[in-house]
Amino acid sequence: MITKPKGCYDVIDKEALKLNKINRYINYYCDFYNYDFIRTPLFESRELFHRTVGESTDIVTKETYDFKDRNDRELTLRPEGTAGVVRSFIENKMYGSNLPRKLYYNGTMYRYERPGNGRNREFTQFGVEILGSNDVAVDVEVISFAYRLFEELGFQDLNVKINNLGSKEDREHYKKALKEYLQPHLNNLCDDCKVRFETNPLRILDCKVDQDSSVLKNVPNILEYQSEESKERFKKVLEYLRFLDVDYEVDAKLVRGLDYYDYTVFEIISSEEVLGNASTIAAGGRYNDLVEKLGGPSIPCMGFACGLERIMLAMDKIENIEKRPLDCYILYVNEEEKMKAITLAQDLRCSGISVDYDVTGRSLKSQFKEADRNHAQLLILLNSEDLQHGWITVKDNLTKEEIKIEENEIIDYIVSNG
Ligand code: ATP
Ligand code: MG
Repeated sequence: MITKPKGCYDVIDKEALKLNKINRYINYYCDFYNYDFIRTPLFESRELFHRTVGESTDIVTKETYDFKDRNDRELTLRPEGTAGVVRSFIENKMYGSNLPRKLYYNGTMYRYERPGNGRNREFTQFGVEILGSNDVAVDVEVISFAYRLFEELGFQDLNVKINNLGSKEDREHYKKALKEYLQPHLNNLCDDCKVRFETNPLRILDCKVDQDSSVLKNVPNILEYQSEESKERFKKVLEYLRFLDVDYEVDAKLVRGLDYYDYTVFEIISSEEVLGNASTIAAGGRYNDLVEKLGGPSIPCMGFACGLERIMLAMDKIENIEKRPLDCYILYVNEEEKMKAITLAQDLRCSGISVDYDVTGRSLKSQFKEADRNHAQLLILLNSEDLQHGWITVKDNLTKEEIKIEENEIIDYIVSNG
């Protein structure tokens, strides 16, 4: 038997119901907040992710699925959504008019990680990007949008961790101080961090291995190495978040695992126990230099991405999701009745009634069982004799009451009683 690849999974049954529900909320809320949907390719040139996510990040060094196509092009399955969106923004010259552009995407991403609770090799991310404004109102809208969406999905006890990475100059200033502090402790850090010390010292703060070491606990505070302007900007973001009742906590060690962030970065944490150490359900921040880095004009942006699998995992605790009951199930025995079932089903569906009927030659008894399994509210019992007289029998599947309706009034009857 051929089985699915490691770290992948099929979305079926309850998981499918949950995913559909989340997607309905996402589409509804994005529309509500005036975001436009964007779909970009599942794979892009490898260089795109090296230039955006960053050469020295875990994603690029260990996690991407790289391959060559039949024409030797170097391609990579997308490990995240922002790079493709920004590439598309530039390639389609969206910066030419109507800024800011508010976009949202929703699709599968690929990372070669060790699979575990809330961690897969193929997973789904939904995210939004606002391209074309450096206003703090954008930072606040993106954060509060994510927060409210999860609240609507039933999450309680959400916490926003937020930090300010400052401008490029601020970060250079901080990096110098951080390296001076870490230098004497280098031997106590993990091998990855020894490399990060040279390539990207900020990333050491994000290390999962060294997280609890005393060396990391006492690192200099990034917020103290910033210009007055950066500090003032961050103060404003926090002030607005308080106005909007977003529960946040400043975490000066939050840096995020991708290279392109500056100024505001944040994570949304859920305290649902099922999530274990996969408690970060969404994360994002500002990336004011990325568009220019990819060959576009200087356009400040902000966004976040959230992992839908983690939301699905936590949803088990939040609500017992059930399949929507069918409005109607049509039962029949002979060919003439079956013809009627097929045309009646189409007419009912066109009138907004959910309906189904047997297509596997079940006995009448099994058709009743199938109707129950689908929680059908009304049963349409087709019978040749009735049909010859222009009648159709409808049975309320709860009260078991039966009524004969004139055939040409059946749609109106079901629509008003369904
Ligand atoms: P983590 O620290 O958990 O590895 P990350 O920093 O790699 O997360 P991002 O790249 O910022 O995460 O992705 C944003 C969100 O996407 C995460 O908060 C999480 O919900 C989800 N996510 C990331 N990687 C995976 C994965 N391998 N499987 C499932 N969801 C994931
Ligand atoms: Mg990761």
